[in-house]
Amino acid sequence: MSTRSSTSITCPQCDHRQDFEIWPSLNVDLDPEQKDRLLSGELMRSICGECGVGAEVNYAILYHDMTRQLMVNFTGEDGKDELSNPLSERILTDYQLRIVATRNALVEKVWISTASLDDRVMELFKLTMEQQMNQEDEEELLFAGIEEAENGERNLRFVRVNASGSESYDVPMGSFQDFSDTVSSSFGLGAPELGEWLTIDRQFAIKMFRDHFSEDSKS
Ligand SMILES: [Zn+2]
Repeated sequence: MSTRSSTSITCPQCDHRQDFEIWPSLNVDLDPEQKDRLLSGELMRSICGECGVGAEVNYAILYHDMTRQLMVNFTGEDGKDELSNPLSERILTDYQLRIVATRNALVEKVWISTASLDDRVMELFKLTMEQQMNQEDEEELLFAGIEEAENGERNLRFVRVNASGSESYDVPMGSFQDFSDTVSSSFGLGAPELGEWLTIDRQFAIKMFRDHFSEDSKS
């Protein structure tokens, strides 16, 4: 089930007040068009009816994909909105359950799931990319879906976001697969854990690398 409600938004530019539809619980099997709006950013952006200025609207969403057995709990960027768990534990035991702290992370989880990739491998891959690109602290690297090139090859699209804008990078699917095979065997990654709420983010990847290399130095 999805839940939909309405909130009042004040335009940051002209103070015009208008209603904005929010989706505290979003079931994308029942409301697939809302998944597209989430991925495009529309679901959490209000456009002022008076002056046309866009404003990001920060609200908690429980994202639910029954087909891919994924739930993502975004609690809102101020961390104040808490969601109660709406489904029985019995149903969730077959699910990948994720907690995210930002809108960008929510959208990225949906892209990862849609591309049938492993989010643990994705975080490790992004950390490796960041090191190669000498990423600055305030920058963020996000996976943004699969693109098909003119020659028919499939690429992973990444977007590097910083204060001055964003840049996109395409990585051949084969490079990601090679990386995935290597880390899965050397880090001993098993099947993703199901039925447990986990935070799989940059910190997760940093910890995996640290644990891995500290084990190496002991042996
Ligand atoms: Zn306005």
